[in-house]
Amino acid sequence: MRVERVSAHIWAVSVWVLIPIRVWLVAGDDGVTLVDAGLSFMAEGILRAIDRLGAGPLRRILLTHGHSDHTGAIAPILRRRPVPVYAHEREIPYMTGQLPYPRRRRPAAGLAPGVAEPLAEEGRGVLARVAGLRPYLTPGHSPGHVAYYHERDRVLLAGDLFTSRQGRLGRPMAIFTADMEEAVRSGAIVATLQPERLEICHGGPVLNPAAQISQYLAAAG
Ligand SMILES: [Zn+2]
Ligand SMILES: [Zn+2]
Repeated sequence: MRVERVSAHIWAVSVWVLIPIRVWLVAGDDGVTLVDAGLSFMAEGILRAIDRLGAGPLRRILLTHGHSDHTGAIAPILRRRPVPVYAHEREIPYMTGQLPYPRRRRPAAGLAPGVAEPLAEEGRGVLARVAGLRPYLTPGHSPGHVAYYHERDRVLLAGDLFTSRQGRLGRPMAIFTADMEEAVRSGAIVATLQPERLEICHGGPVLNPAAQISQYLAAAG
């Protein structure tokens, strides 16, 4: 398992299992926030990476969405460190298997009901900042997909909103994406936020992604 520093407050922990799988550790005032949880076998390495940071204890887990390659390590992590888990309230019925994800016939076996709580709202659909990260609803890849923006470091942790190849923005993986058109439209978040760095789960980082976004949106249209 590889640990690399992304910015002043963020580290990426990654493995390669046919595709790269990245999760993020975010150091904050009260300790460490884990964004996404990867596959179950990553639990041990994630906890070891947190301990080595020396940035305080794990305080919470934030999910970009509920696909199994993002939630697999939650159960083994919670057995060792019982912390709250948050996702967008729209995503929760899909991740707990109450509803099948769009374009899937069967519900995912996902996370037990009650494990994930909804991200807090400030009102009018604006999600409250948590641990230095502002969540933004970016649906399409899944109905309640969220990207987390670290405002101080100007890093957007974007889960499966995009893929990337050699620093170029790519569409999310089609077979796992509920509504590609909506997912592509949600990608415009990078034009709004103008992050310095975009981090995605299944690919390398993209620097200054806003410079590519009009081309990305046009190619999709
Ligand atoms: Zn996904
Ligand atoms: Zn994924």
